Amino acid sequence: MELRIVEHPLVSHKLTTLRDASTDSPTFRRLTEELVTLLAYEATREVRVSPCTVQTPVAEAHGVKLSPPRPLVVPILRAGLGMLEGMTRLVPTAEVGFVGMRRDEVTLEAVTYAERLPDDLSGRQCYVLDPMLATGGTLAAAVQFLTKRGADHITCICLLAAPEGIERMTQLLDGLQVPCTLVVAAVDEKLNEVGYIVPGLGDAGDRLYGVVD
Ligand code: URA
Repeated sequence: MELRIVEHPLVSHKLTTLRDASTDSPTFRRLTEELVTLLAYEATREVRVSPCTVQTPVAEAHGVKLSPPRPLVVPILRAGLGMLEGMTRLVPTAEVGFVGMRRDEVTLEAVTYAERLPDDLSGRQCYVLDPMLATGGTLAAAVQFLTKRGADHITCICLLAAPEGIERMTQLLDGLQVPCTLVVAAVDEKLNEVGYIVPGLGDAGDRLYGVVD
């Protein structure tokens, strides 16, 4: 798995405000969208294009257009939903599928509770959205899920990652037959004893949408 840390002053600026515990939910949602659009710019460097020709008001110009099949964006419910708008702003023609995964708070393992994806993902480039790469179990499970359906190029976009999560994902995806890239705004210090990223930004789902009991 290739790791890409996006280093840019605007990325750091927005991330710092997200980390701030006093940032309210509306601001948190808006900044998440903006940050994801910046990350998506880096994450889509390998998006497939084909040559094409257009007529400008002056002359013929050679360029490119996105190749079919359309890229598939897959937010992992619930917190990944907060990243969807920022991603589709950059790639408006992308198709969107959903995977519902949550972390079992006792085992810290990923559990799939919902899924809405095309059955056949052959030849598809997939962009998986999950704000926090903590233990790595959820994201690795999502990547395996998509490759089993035939996806042949996977890019995961996260706001933050813990070194433990990157390590575990690398182990779990060892031998994966398709290229997999992880794009993040920053890699933090560690995971704490209850699986939170330190210093992190807290529970991303709760900060986006409020606490659900
Ligand atoms: N999920 C979150 O929302 N935050 C963390 O710090 C870890 C997992």
